[in-house]
Amino acid sequence: MFTTPPITALVERLTLEQKVRLLTGASMWSLHDEPAVGLRPIVVSDGPTGVRGTAMDDRDPSASLPSASCVCATWDLEQVRRLGALIAAEARSKNVDVVLGPTVNLHRSPRGGRHFEAFSEDPYLSGEFGAAYVASVQAHGVATTAKHYVANDSETDRFTVDVHADERTLREVYLAPFERMVDEGAWLVMSAYNTVNGVTMSANPLLRDPLKDEWGFDGVVVSDWAAVRDTEPSAASGQDLVMPGPEGPWGEALVEAVTAGRVPQSAIDEKVARLLLLASRVGALESGPAATPVEPWDRTAIADLLREAAADGMVLARNDGTLPVEPRDGLTVGVIGQHALRARAQGGGSATVFPYHVVTPLEGLRTAYGKHAVTFAPGLPPADELHAFTRGTVTDPVSGADGVRVRYLDHDSTAFAEEIIPSGRLAWLGDPRLAMADRIELTTRLTPDRDGRHDLGFAGVGGFTFEIDGETVSTDSLAAPGGDPVTAILNPPKRVVSRDLNHGQAVELRLTYRPELPGGFPVAMVQLGYQDLFGDPAEELRRAVEVAAASDIAVVVVGTTEALESEGFDRSGLGLPEGQDELVRRVAAANPRTVVVVNSGAPVLMPWLDEVAAVVLSWFPGQEFGAALADVLTGAREPGGRLPTTWPAREEDVPVWTVEPREGRLAYTEGLHVGYRAWLKREQAGGRGPALPFGSGLGYTTWRIDQPTVSTAGDRVVVLADVTNTGARPGKQVLQAYLSRPESTVERPVAWLAGFTAVRAQAGERVLARIEIALRAFQHWDTDAHAWTTEPGTFTLRLATSATDPGHTVTVTPATGE
Ligand code: BGC
Repeated sequence: MFTTPPITALVERLTLEQKVRLLTGASMWSLHDEPAVGLRPIVVSDGPTGVRGTAMDDRDPSASLPSASCVCATWDLEQVRRLGALIAAEARSKNVDVVLGPTVNLHRSPRGGRHFEAFSEDPYLSGEFGAAYVASVQAHGVATTAKHYVANDSETDRFTVDVHADERTLREVYLAPFERMVDEGAWLVMSAYNTVNGVTMSANPLLRDPLKDEWGFDGVVVSDWAAVRDTEPSAASGQDLVMPGPEGPWGEALVEAVTAGRVPQSAIDEKVARLLLLASRVGALESGPAATPVEPWDRTAIADLLREAAADGMVLARNDGTLPVEPRDGLTVGVIGQHALRARAQGGGSATVFPYHVVTPLEGLRTAYGKHAVTFAPGLPPADELHAFTRGTVTDPVSGADGVRVRYLDHDSTAFAEEIIPSGRLAWLGDPRLAMADRIELTTRLTPDRDGRHDLGFAGVGGFTFEIDGETVSTDSLAAPGGDPVTAILNPPKRVVSRDLNHGQAVELRLTYRPELPGGFPVAMVQLGYQDLFGDPAEELRRAVEVAAASDIAVVVVGTTEALESEGFDRSGLGLPEGQDELVRRVAAANPRTVVVVNSGAPVLMPWLDEVAAVVLSWFPGQEFGAALADVLTGAREPGGRLPTTWPAREEDVPVWTVEPREGRLAYTEGLHVGYRAWLKREQAGGRGPALPFGSGLGYTTWRIDQPTVSTAGDRVVVLADVTNTGARPGKQVLQAYLSRPESTVERPVAWLAGFTAVRAQAGERVLARIEIALRAFQHWDTDAHAWTTEPGTFTLRLATSATDPGHTVTVTPATGE
């Protein structure tokens, strides 16, 4: 039973100063304690694709899950439920109470830089996946955070952009997933950086209504990091908690504003009450229930789940019958492309975790087909990235242990702290040693595994001296790119020097760093590492083609880079990095059995789509990338994915392209018509369709779907259909129910997703698919009544396997439950 004294009684025990202190974080990732009410610090961590914990480097490794666009491509809520249980276990094992996810902003334009981290272009699908995440994580007593409320659908000028969207568009499209998650009981909502209709989201009336008043949200509105930039407007609004801390615009200024009567005391009491309710939910109040115990998962159980989930999200976009390719004696596989070696298992930015390991496509395919069956050729120069020395490749010069020695030196050159870190990557987020240090020294011993040129270097913001074996090879001052402090630590500038080294002859590397804190934030990131070498480009391309021609099957892995697709900026175009399209074409011309694997978090253009044997879209599939890919290519598992977002064929066809604000404003002029809705509208007007429609994807078997029947149960319409696996292999099919209303008296999308289900069947097996459609799916937001309204009459329901599949249609009448 709930034994906490009523929260209001706890609030009354606190002075104004004590209350206000609780409303700004204590550090980058934790909140204040308050002994007067038996409150311990609550710990938060980023979490859409794994729980990073409070360190932002390899000192605290995490399970790396498939990114949201991959998870959503499974169209299977059961997968999210299982991943949610893992997230909760990861959070508990890192003493994290609050996970900062899921992200339910929409893929409004395919250019949005953070789409990998969000589920879909469709509000209903996003809401269902978000809600399943919330329910499954919170079932274990770990809090989730629906973010970023609201209309944070692109990254350009993300701190200042003023999104203009009308009331109906907000309600039916952008607020809808948040409403669904609040309904499911999300314990936190994160207010976004951007402004909506003229008011910054951390002070926006939308925090009050609909979030708290109409929807009854009883949790905490936490700010996005450094989003609160004023005192009174934000404190008087529905904003409850300022992050990070301990500095911030509330504090003493807010105490003064309340004392002077400019912000009501009741506003403060409400925020504190919400915070204490959260504390009792996560087990942070002495007088409340204890935290729910969660057993940690072992590494094998984690890998098994992540491998299965990743394969289930991979989309087979094209297959001329080449796939699957089962391993057999004598089979030769050419694996081509830098992404086979340097896989993008996750997207960049705040969602990043530091995994124990990543199975690359090359490793996965070598394991599946046999080491000697696989020949690798990179084909193209590597991305311009510095790779931190990983565990086990460098040693501490003093003790000989694995890793890098770090010394913190004060102005008198006295080392006041020292530690050994596992890799050459080190981040400080609110670490007091950073501010105290005049300089920080990283030393390590590198033993080359070959003779010849090595490109060694460092990255970060501040002053650097880099020495190799006592010789100073670089003295540099590196500045933060742009004004975004987050991207300054996530994509820091770098310097690289080339040196000839001898195999087995160790060299000592020493990097002396003088920190410069971007925007005064107590955060910094430093990397000591190397760049991949590459031969003569024409020669390497020729070799890739040669490998393809000499192999039974060629697998080309292409994809975006950190510089093209990441948090903090949008993509300027949808093309793959330079040279990749040509590489695919050259390989396909040399081998008719060419399989292309596209490793991106969001749509890219595939001008060669019809010229290759098969295409698998892998997204950013997490740490088990290569193992899952091998399962899909060999047929050990079906590629279970269907597109949660439309993939265009050409940039000029994309219905919503612009993400750049004009004079500070970004107008959502397309209204309700985003994603496939916009494509359908465009096609109705005679425009060209996309390369791959929303909801589409192939498997390794064939299906028959019978005419559905429709009935009602309470306020739900129930759609039933027999689905038969008519092929020779077990498989998965995703059935999608779209509604339309051609005779509508109000503007409507051409069709909109109202329900879905994933079914699995053995060869020859028939299963009954069931989809329930809620009343809300039929409703529209009436801007005169400011309420949801159900238009009388009938709707057309189409049961299909994509947004453009004609499927079966039936006439339905909404069930009102009356
Ligand atoms: C991101 C949030 C994230 C926060 C903390 C912000 O820049 O927008 O999604 O939770 O940083 O890392």
